[in-house]
Amino acid sequence: MSDLPKDFNSLLLNVQKTAMEIAAIHAPDVDENARFPIETIAALKSSKALSAPIPKELGGLGCTLKQLAQLCSTISAACGSSGMVLAMHYIKLACIVRHAHEDVFFKHYLQEIVEHQYLLASITSEVGTYGDTRSSICALERKEGRFILNKQATTGSYCAHADAILVTCRRDSEALSSEQILVLVKPADTRLTQTTSWDTMGMRGTCSPGFNLEAEGCEEQVLPDSFAEIAAQTMVPYSHILWSALWWGIANGAVHKAATFVRTQARKTPGTMPPSATRLAEANVQLQSVKNNWQTLASEFDEISALSDAREKLQDLGWALKMNNLKISTSDQAPQIVHKALQILGLQGYKNDSKYSLSREYRDALSGSLMISNDRIAGKSAALLMIYKDA
Ligand SMILES: Cc1cc2nc3c(=O)[nH]c(=O)nc-3n(C[C@H](O)[C@H](O)[C@H](O)COP(=O)(O)OP(=O)(O)OC[C@H]3O[C@@H](n4cnc5c(N)ncnc54)[C@H](O)[C@@H]3O)c2cc1C
Repeated sequence: MSDLPKDFNSLLLNVQKTAMEIAAIHAPDVDENARFPIETIAALKSSKALSAPIPKELGGLGCTLKQLAQLCSTISAACGSSGMVLAMHYIKLACIVRHAHEDVFFKHYLQEIVEHQYLLASITSEVGTYGDTRSSICALERKEGRFILNKQATTGSYCAHADAILVTCRRDSEALSSEQILVLVKPADTRLTQTTSWDTMGMRGTCSPGFNLEAEGCEEQVLPDSFAEIAAQTMVPYSHILWSALWWGIANGAVHKAATFVRTQARKTPGTMPPSATRLAEANVQLQSVKNNWQTLASEFDEISALSDAREKLQDLGWALKMNNLKISTSDQAPQIVHKALQILGLQGYKNDSKYSLSREYRDALSGSLMISNDRIAGKSAALLMIYKDA
């Protein structure tokens, strides 16, 4: 793209164009062949969307979380897998921006991301820790300024296509399972051996099999803050808000198809409202309430982040509960909204070869409640509610 965006609004226009003209066109093939959405990610790179969260003084656009959420929802309305890749990249990039951008190594690395539009992936999952991201078995082995890190990951999205992976592990071999750090590993110093397949119902284009990771590097690649701080202040809020926005985007895409169908029906019978129009109105109610939920919390996060005591506020139990509630409610509601859109479309939505098909949207939306299990999150909320009293 010739005109590089100078601000969020021009970036959003570029991303909307990418969604309509590239992501939507390739989404069926990405889904059918469970392949990485190379075309969409290449287009996002060429419009410099991958460096949107990086501060302006380092060459990025300094986008807020609410703005990033808008970008993810725009892409996911056309291709859920592409939206998820963008969201996961932003989550990892935010960890660096918010916890290491004053560090000499990472400051320089952020400038490299702006220049080369590197794509960042994430490995928090591990064989033996189940879905608990806040515990690790593997540990960093340090020697003379360098490290070795070996990890058996159950799931690693688009790792084979990433320019770097951020990996959780114990601080050292003496540390407790919860004493974690986050380490940047680069492809040139990393061997990935695929251990499982990724032939899933949905989110097929995220290409997320299991891997044995064997990496080495310099100690400066370790983020300075503990993962406990990074998770509470950045990774959890970014994940739950960006994921919510993208699950909403998938549902929005489905309702858009249903609305187009109902309007076409209405034009065929002037003066008579199609019976499915009332269902469309119902789907619209739920769509608006989910959108309000993620947008409100994204704005709240951006407001808190500007405060001098942001770190304390983001460690607050009440904030953690809000994030858990958001994740559970949006991942529950997105497939319900797609289901409502399917009832409106009937067989036209059920057929795989119809232009109104909701097969991909339905299957993609189902991943939300599993992506960090809602039961696991509800269990954590239940424990928090035993001690937290809302003022
Ligand atoms: C599309 C997608 C992309 C992903 N990408 C990545 C990635 O890039 N990197 C990465 O590291 N990981 C990734 N993951 C994995 C993710 O981080 C989690 O590890 C994974 O979703 C957890 O899977 P699980 O259901 O096997 O584990 P668990 O959370 O252990 O759940 C297993 C079962 O136990 C139940 N359960 C768990 N805890 C409780 C509880 N407290 N109370 C009651 N029941 C409970 C659950 O309901 C579920 O039935 C991805 C997952 C998805 C779906």
